[in-house]
Amino acid sequence: MYVGMGYDIHRLVPGRKLVLGGMIIPFEKGLLGHSDADVLIHAVCDALLGAAGLGDIGVHFPDTDPEFKDISSMKLLVRTNEMIRKKGLGIQNIDSTIFAEAPKLNPYRETMGKNIGHALDLEPDRINIKATTAEGLGVIGKGEGIGAMCVVLLFRQGK
Ligand code: MG
Repeated sequence: MYVGMGYDIHRLVPGRKLVLGGMIIPFEKGLLGHSDADVLIHAVCDALLGAAGLGDIGVHFPDTDPEFKDISSMKLLVRTNEMIRKKGLGIQNIDSTIFAEAPKLNPYRETMGKNIGHALDLEPDRINIKATTAEGLGVIGKGEGIGAMCVVLLFRQGK
């Protein structure tokens, strides 16, 4: 078994769509980034890459590469999945937490899990998504950004 962790944070700004877990969430601000800035998917990618010993998301999908400008992070997740499968690794489970003061994310967690499961060819019951606020503390609490953490467990296929 191989454990991996991922962490990411992006700034909230006006004039951008808020994309989390591969879906657009109604909100007055969105996350700033080279891609669609889906902070949850970036944390999942980093956890998967970490568990597989494949570095991090910046190595494989650099934010200086025009190919990744405004790209859906779900495409990065699909490509990350291909990389870990190529190494003969499968996904046991994924656990994640989104840190956001607003909006309330509970209504969207199930759809996010389905989106991630679809991208990874994984049953949604292997994917857990939690959401919490920062109780008004720090940059998350002041609504300046949204963060995410993820832990994954991989196994060697055929064993
Ligand atoms: Mg990111």
